[in-house]
Amino acid sequence: MWNQYFKAWYNSTPVHRKGNLNGPSVLVIEDFLFRRYGDLKWWPSETADEMAIGAILTQNTSWKNVEKSLSNLRYLDALSCGQIVSMPESELEIAIRSSGFFRQKSMRIKAMCRAVYEEFGNFESMAKIADLEYARSFLSSLNGIGRETMNSILLYGLGFPVFVMDKYTGRIISRLGYDLEESRKELPEGVIEKALKHDVPRLRNLHAMFVEVGKNHCRKSPICGSCPLEKICDYSGKDEIVP
Ligand code: SF4
Repeated sequence: MWNQYFKAWYNSTPVHRKGNLNGPSVLVIEDFLFRRYGDLKWWPSETADEMAIGAILTQNTSWKNVEKSLSNLRYLDALSCGQIVSMPESELEIAIRSSGFFRQKSMRIKAMCRAVYEEFGNFESMAKIADLEYARSFLSSLNGIGRETMNSILLYGLGFPVFVMDKYTGRIISRLGYDLEESRKELPEGVIEKALKHDVPRLRNLHAMFVEVGKNHCRKSPICGSCPLEKICDYSGKDEIVP
């Protein structure tokens, strides 16, 4: 379903969208974004374990709040799966309180770290042992790891060539001209992965650049005048708030 919409979008008439199927449009978007942002060097974490813990912490909250939690965990020397497993739950809850939903997130982090620790030792080992299919089914079986969190861990933590679709990306793609409304849950990650030739650094950076646009420009009421995608966006100027 999504791919049909996406193909229709690719084949739409404006000149900048003409070209081979599943390629140029994503490449044009990437090019416009890269000229503004360059390499954003995401995700800001030192290890795959820290990245995965951060992926749960960032659910429904800002990265600023997550940073405080990660800083507390770093102070407690508790940023690995093994350390989280042996940490008392009450201590973990206090450490991550700034990220909100701390009881729920504490349980999710504990469950994820325990599963990874028992099966692989840590996420670094998981990246070496598991293939994409196994890693995907392993993560999706864990409580509280939805599609966005799972794909974030696969891409940034484990280095698999998947694209992370989040609310920012959905809104931006929709406003660029793609009919997103009816099938919001079926997302065109595969089309974007193919267009970027399954290149992990490019997939990482494209998601990071979408997040920048989403945070700074393509908000509910968009700020289009300074947006890097303004020249190729069907929605540009509609509902705009002029800062
Ligand atoms: S031009 Fe406006 S509507 Fe289009 S992506 Fe940028 S901020 Fe969003």
